[in-house]
Amino acid sequence: MLKKNDILEVSVEADSGNGSGICRVDGMAVFISGTTRFDRVKIKIVNVKSSYAVAELLEIIEPSDFREDGFCVSSDVCGGCDFAHIKYDRQLEIKKEHVLSCLERIGKLEKDDFECFDTCGMQTPYRYRNKMVFPLGYDKNKRITGGFYKRGTHDIAELKSCTQGPKEASIFLNAVVQYMKENNVSCYDEKSHKGLIRRVFVRFGFESKEAMVVISANGKKLPKAEKLIEKLVLLNETRFVIKSIILNINEQKNNLVLGDKNITLYGEDYIHDTLCGVNYKISPNSFFQINPVQTEVLYNKAIEFAELKGNETVIDLYCGIGTISLMAAKYAKSVIGVEIVEQAIEDAKNNSRINGIENTEFIAGSAETIASQLAENGKKADVIFIDPPRKGSDEITLDCIARMSPEKIVYISCNPATLARDLAYLKSKGYMTKKVQPVDMFPNTSHVETVVLIQHDTEIS
Ligand code: SAH
Repeated sequence: MLKKNDILEVSVEADSGNGSGICRVDGMAVFISGTTRFDRVKIKIVNVKSSYAVAELLEIIEPSDFREDGFCVSSDVCGGCDFAHIKYDRQLEIKKEHVLSCLERIGKLEKDDFECFDTCGMQTPYRYRNKMVFPLGYDKNKRITGGFYKRGTHDIAELKSCTQGPKEASIFLNAVVQYMKENNVSCYDEKSHKGLIRRVFVRFGFESKEAMVVISANGKKLPKAEKLIEKLVLLNETRFVIKSIILNINEQKNNLVLGDKNITLYGEDYIHDTLCGVNYKISPNSFFQINPVQTEVLYNKAIEFAELKGNETVIDLYCGIGTISLMAAKYAKSVIGVEIVEQAIEDAKNNSRINGIENTEFIAGSAETIASQLAENGKKADVIFIDPPRKGSDEITLDCIARMSPEKIVYISCNPATLARDLAYLKSKGYMTKKVQPVDMFPNTSHVETVVLIQHDTEIS
């Protein structure tokens, strides 16, 4: 029987889909993060449950051919990239395997009943993030440091470089840290709820080349703010122009990335960017897709699956700021977007207006309530897009979708497990999964997005 603190030498047999390798010991699955299939490793058991165990990697005795170390200088301490040790091609295969395994295990779908394509990956799977958030704190020598949380803790480690975002992100962070040191500005301390600056949040417009720096603070005023502005605006060696510097106020004892109130210290209170041919104004608190290159791949695939001809009535549930609605509007007769966050609906309407798009309507409310009202009023749709959060959709919403008898449903999911559950439910309503396309929005992490085409039995010849 396995026991905590046992030290073993094992061969990793499979990949779990969440960045851990799996081996079997005495018939029990053991999950080891930081390993991949065919690694030969020395491990220490840290937790034994009734049906599985968790181990810590002590040493790689013989690396697998799928392994690639050295991608990131901080990957041994940072919890950010749980696939950082796996070659990129293999990461894409694991994501596809994970999606298929969820559809079969959870959704009870038969592999032969639908087509599953290879994961769409990135040509350059680095520096793809347009938003970076860096916590600030003191290191053990009481010096201000900014970077990332050490894996599984709230201890802050210094950022040497992070290959997920533009290199300017760390240049801006360092400028803020330098300003704080030179002007005796304190860092916030989570435990005592004292100190001023909590985080540095940086946003980039990859197309517009505009940047926004947000200082999240436990206070309403930044001492000698002009010194910070000067430092940031005069930075050279950056490809981005700083268009906006914002003080974000969060005086609560919470761990939210940003509070609700913003004071503009310099420039505008937003930056611009373009996504899928549509222009957006992005404020500090707005939701905006993090990997714009792959968002285009994802949503183009969704539009391709929908095969719009120009005369369709389209509904976009969980529409956020309306990215899919605004794309679909170009190819359809009319689009109704539904979203629970009122501010996002305001942004969606505004985005529609600034892009001169006139065949959209946006409704604030929960998908279940609005879909129920639409179905109750006898609304019919030709295509329904759904793009729910990680917990997936729900039976009320899915029932109403079926009652609006669309020819096609295009489901965009960021969680294969809840996707599989919802596809099983739609199958019980006669809506069959036809095409499945995994898309890699977050290279070097275990996250995977999936676009699925679902059609009614009677629509399929
Ligand atoms: N397609 C969107 C992003 C979808 S992310 C875009 O391109 O911007 C999922 C969205 O679902 C989020 O905007 C979230 O606010 C919204 N949401 C969460 N629960 C909801 C619910 N019950 N009803 C409607 N929208 C919901």
